[in-house]
Amino acid sequence: MIDKCFICGEDNEHVLQQHHIVPRWLDGSDRDENLVRLCANCHQAIEKIYTRQVFLRLESKFTDRVTQLVADFVDKHITHTDRETRTRTRDVYDQFVEYCRQRDSRPIDRPSFHREFRTLTTSTVTIKENSTKTRKYYTDLRIER
Ligand SMILES: [Zn+2]
Repeated sequence: MIDKCFICGEDNEHVLQQHHIVPRWLDGSDRDENLVRLCANCHQAIEKIYTRQVFLRLESKFTDRVTQLVADFVDKHITHTDRETRTRTRDVYDQFVEYCRQRDSRPIDRPSFHREFRTLTTSTVTIKENSTKTRKYYTDLRIER
């Protein structure tokens, strides 16, 4: 890691501090890609801007993206196939991971996936209530749960 402030270039090592880009309380890692060297002044300034509230806002944007990813997956791989909906939810997750791999998207963990999946499939059913295919899908899902 370069031993100067990433923002202002201050190189006095006595004032240099390690800053987590994604904070630890949001599961930000201690790995190099999540760390940046800042002087005390810049560190303080940045912490003032990126408050907990701001990060929660940013996280909600990420959550929307996650929902979209699972929604795309459901659209492409679930509602259009009758047989596959009978697979156990564990297999659905494996299928989702494969789907993410093909799209170069980072898959979310299993519990998050199931949470999104259930929310989405339930709301999909509400929206497409008149579709026979969707109703069948919903029936299959109830068996899985
Ligand atoms: Zn600085």
